[in-house]
Amino acid sequence: MKDWIRPEIKALSAYHVPDSSGFIKLDAMENPYHWSDELTDEWLVQLRHAELNRYPDPAASQLKQQIQTTLNIPSDSELILGNGSDELIQMIMMTVSGSDRTVLSVEPSFVMYKMIATFLGMPYVGVPLTSDFTLDEAAVLSAIEQHQPAIIFLAYPNNPTGNLFDERVIDKIITSTDGLIVIDEAYYAFAGKTYANKLKQHKNLLVMRTVSKMGLAGLRLGYLAGAQELVNEFDKVRLPYNINVLTQLSANFALDHVSELNRQTDKIKQDRELLMAALRSIDGLDVFPSQANFILFRTTSKAAGDVFESLKQQKILIKNLSKASASLNNCLRVTVGLPEENEAFLTALQAALK
Ligand code: PMP
Repeated sequence: MKDWIRPEIKALSAYHVPDSSGFIKLDAMENPYHWSDELTDEWLVQLRHAELNRYPDPAASQLKQQIQTTLNIPSDSELILGNGSDELIQMIMMTVSGSDRTVLSVEPSFVMYKMIATFLGMPYVGVPLTSDFTLDEAAVLSAIEQHQPAIIFLAYPNNPTGNLFDERVIDKIITSTDGLIVIDEAYYAFAGKTYANKLKQHKNLLVMRTVSKMGLAGLRLGYLAGAQELVNEFDKVRLPYNINVLTQLSANFALDHVSELNRQTDKIKQDRELLMAALRSIDGLDVFPSQANFILFRTTSKAAGDVFESLKQQKILIKNLSKASASLNNCLRVTVGLPEENEAFLTALQAALK
């Protein structure tokens, strides 16, 4: 057989998710909390009525309405839902794609921007952040001038660094491009800062979020808000029924109880501050500020790869980013877990650094 596989796909490695069974899992920015028995029982009652023999509502109208009201999306913007925000990134790019259409983001940031650009044969430009992971204003503006990107992605707060970028610089970026600009607010629940209220002002602006970090990662549900003219075009490349019956029902139910999810988020935010303070008190670490549910830190007295392996041996799984790019040299990322998981991590980390 002729080898039909595109060389750029052959050159990729698949998105790797390590086996986490038996580990304290602090690698994937999940919310560690479960629902109360009462809430679970109530949900199960509703699930009895799920019509699994029928296709789901293709427009997921009820769920969109629910998201708009409970998650503070202005009523005059249009919404589209994705199977996780990953699928929304793919839809945006599919709508715009072409070998002469550049995708621009910053480095380091969320890897799927570049990966999906590669899947679709779009050139990708990653503008390096400064050494403290802030936006390099001059470099981004000059890259926009040079490459005239069709789409710009900015994660706000950024993953894997955890910080919010300077609003003044983002505003400048928005007005300096005629490309689409996607503000990826995946960690909105923890940072509370949003561009949703600027959607009316800028027709090229899109705000993307996910329910994954609010305690619903298993549902796979992301949402994108923007001007109707744009969102209607994205809707044409959306596969029919992309949000399944169980997800629509469960997300609707969960958002009826959004105060419970918000309570969990508030607890995670408090625990982030405790974990931050504890990490900062340990010698041999540089700890970066975070407005998200994870903390990035650099090991300065031992190779991060060795620290990561030692944590693994102690049955704690975090994310090793030390090989991801030169600027993340010796960097590790830990997700805020249950208080006892954070404690176990800190104890194991101190042992690993000895
Ligand atoms: N954007 C950012 C910045 C992320 O960190 C992630 C998940 N790690 C996503 C998008 C994707 O989230 P999901 O597909 O779970 O909605």
